[in-house]
Amino acid sequence: MLMKKYLLLSFILVANFCIAQQAENIIIITTDGFRWQEVFKGMDSAIANNKRFNQGDSSYLYEKYWGNDATERRKKLLPFLWSTVSAHGQLYGNRTLGNKVNNANPYWFSYPGYSEIMTGYADTAVNSNNYPPNPNVTVLEFFNQQPKLKGKVAAFGAWDAFDRILNEKRSGIPVISAFDASGGKTPTTQQKLINNMLADSYKPWLKEECLDVFTHYAALEELKTKKPKVLYIAYGETDEWAHGGQYRNYLDAAHQVDAWIKQIWDFVQNDPQYKNKTALLVTTDHGRGDIIKKEWTDHGSSIQDAYQIWFAVMGPNTPSGGEMKSDVQLYQKQFAQTMAKLMGYTFKAVHPIAEEIKSAVKK
Ligand SMILES: [Zn+2]
Repeated sequence: MLMKKYLLLSFILVANFCIAQQAENIIIITTDGFRWQEVFKGMDSAIANNKRFNQGDSSYLYEKYWGNDATERRKKLLPFLWSTVSAHGQLYGNRTLGNKVNNANPYWFSYPGYSEIMTGYADTAVNSNNYPPNPNVTVLEFFNQQPKLKGKVAAFGAWDAFDRILNEKRSGIPVISAFDASGGKTPTTQQKLINNMLADSYKPWLKEECLDVFTHYAALEELKTKKPKVLYIAYGETDEWAHGGQYRNYLDAAHQVDAWIKQIWDFVQNDPQYKNKTALLVTTDHGRGDIIKKEWTDHGSSIQDAYQIWFAVMGPNTPSGGEMKSDVQLYQKQFAQTMAKLMGYTFKAVHPIAEEIKSAVKK
């Protein structure tokens, strides 16, 4: 009898262990054109000291984000990534340690970058931000074709190009981008308010892109009310403020994105559908230049180093590793298959798909 009890107990333990190995939900987050340099080294004093970039107030930047070493500075800028994610997940892309993540596409701007992230393929034909609806299949579309996930995939993006990048029409995935209202025909009270505020908000980038705050709260409301199994949120302000040469706004936008990821994760870890069953992947579409050439504001194939990116991953089947220190070369095109494997699938399409990042997925 005692033996039977032991057997039963060990069976339950093994079963639980197996269940915990695979993510049942995934949340993918991008913040446009945010540099690996700030992710791993925090605020750059050379940019903050430059009158062209500090918006007339370097003391604000120093008070909020400065620290004596890179470890202290990055934690001030991105406290969630450098506490919860570094303790339980992995952060890739610190090139000073030889850990390299690159765009495989040769363009180093947004549409090709997001397409590479989502399709697992650096298609050189995808060469413009005005490119028509993506001919290639994204991992989101693939997820939406799986019986367990059908109708449980949603995307929210500050930039209107996501309708095309994710091929909203063909994929059948609802893509709430830029000034789209959320909630469909029966919005919740919260969605009504978000929609009204979005319509009336300041529009520094005209109709093309909204402020991140609206994209965030619309996505959070979706998470709470519709409980998607696959949720993609694409923030855009980091890139916009960098193009404007506004380092304070750039860092504040990144700091805010970090706080929002924490808010999402706190919800996830307090909800039975998501708790300990959700993978998180955070990354960016491209890198930017450096301060030495005064090119940190820009990106594209003519900007040195703008192919250099980073990513963070955490979840039930990602080993904890913190800051990854191994000397490796990884590519953005590997993210799509990594997401599929985290969810227990193998992503297949008619176009080539790069293999997953093996160290991010427990066998
Ligand atoms: Zn840009």
